[in-house]
Amino acid sequence: MKHHQIVIAGGGTAGITVAAHLLTKQPGLDIAIVEPSSKHYYQPIWTLVGGGVFQKEVSERDQADVIPPGATWIQDRIAGFDAEHNTVQLEQAGALTYDYLIVALGIQLDWNKIPGLAESIGKPGTGVCSNYSYQTVGSTWATMQAMKKGTAIFTQPSTPIKCGGAPQKICYLAEDYFQRQGVRDKVDVVFASAADGIFHVPHYVPALNAVIARRHISARYKHDLVEIKPDQKQAVFKRMDTGELVTMGYEMLHVTPPMSAPDVLKTSGLGNEGGWVNVDKGTMQHVAYPNVFSLGDCSSLPTSKTGAAIRKQAPALADNLLAVMHHRTPSHLYDGYTSCPLVTGYGSLILAEFDYDKKPTETFAFDQSKERYSMYALKAYGLPQIYWHGMLKGRA
Ligand code: FAD
Repeated sequence: MKHHQIVIAGGGTAGITVAAHLLTKQPGLDIAIVEPSSKHYYQPIWTLVGGGVFQKEVSERDQADVIPPGATWIQDRIAGFDAEHNTVQLEQAGALTYDYLIVALGIQLDWNKIPGLAESIGKPGTGVCSNYSYQTVGSTWATMQAMKKGTAIFTQPSTPIKCGGAPQKICYLAEDYFQRQGVRDKVDVVFASAADGIFHVPHYVPALNAVIARRHISARYKHDLVEIKPDQKQAVFKRMDTGELVTMGYEMLHVTPPMSAPDVLKTSGLGNEGGWVNVDKGTMQHVAYPNVFSLGDCSSLPTSKTGAAIRKQAPALADNLLAVMHHRTPSHLYDGYTSCPLVTGYGSLILAEFDYDKKPTETFAFDQSKERYSMYALKAYGLPQIYWHGMLKGRA
């Protein structure tokens, strides 16, 4: 059985960023990253790919190019965890033991939980599309371009999701696009969300409601998508308050699928009742196994699941793991910081930044709840550079 000082489960945003911070803080650590995918994705740009601003290829790099120098990449999938024996089971190559484990497996997209979705998503002519995967993001732009009249629906599920703002961002872009194409008067735009309001951080709600009103978007809250009938182009929603089923016809249906903790975590002994890796919300250390840490979308950290959150989690986790390694008490506490760049149209954006208490923790001196071109430019051109050249290198 192979042994590494630190095993990182998952080489996505969280896994690579935390590895880079660890190796920057203590060069020479023996770190293995278990990641099956040969490609690494910058997912936040998929909003603008879906809106036709960029090609999806801009979001993709070879995994080999983002593995930090000094770390070992094990191209395999973790099939099971045995935290009692400091062991992870690999799908192909046996098992690995570790002194310390960091779990960073991301969130699972449950396409199969909605009857009719898996067979229609991303297929030409169905009108069913999603920004939520590399495979399907191109279908959003194709569907928007094909839309000349009828109803365009944008859904948000009742489960936790990554980037809580992404379901509404693409709705605003599409509405803007329909206007620019001169078809807006023939297209009804519906935002159908299981949530009971537009956003869960009060500071940004008035500005977002103003966007909804200005764009004449029909917002249907407490509506959870439960079935698609692709042949009839009908979407069935369950009302969260009354349980009543509501059917709507569509020509375009942008789906944010239900999501959950990865299945492998649900049976790992590391998860809470939902399967999220059960860590202290400040130190990110596991509540039962002191040599296990977790960050990112698969963790139990009660904040909005974003890459921006990981930018703050990763250096803190690295400090805390090194503290444990050197018999000190972990003391770098993560405060729940997260950010959601809410694109409100081509060239405008509200940059929401907040903490565990939903208190704004804004970077700039101006009022970030105001729509601005400068913040749109930051998302489109600045943040990707910060991601590839800063975060993934442990420098930002
Ligand atoms: P991921 O980056 O998804 O990585 C998880 C990794 O684990 C993957 O590489 C996967 O292959 C690997 N893995 C899975 N199972 C196993 C296994 N069994 N064994 C080994 N490896 C495994 N964030 C922002 O900050 N701002 C935004 O504007 C923003 N917009 C978004 C828009 C969209 C459409 C989407 C989809 C996401 C957006 N996000 C945004 C969210 C952001 O991309 C995620 O929160 C972030 O990527 C989470 O990082 P992670 O490492 O936890 O998961």
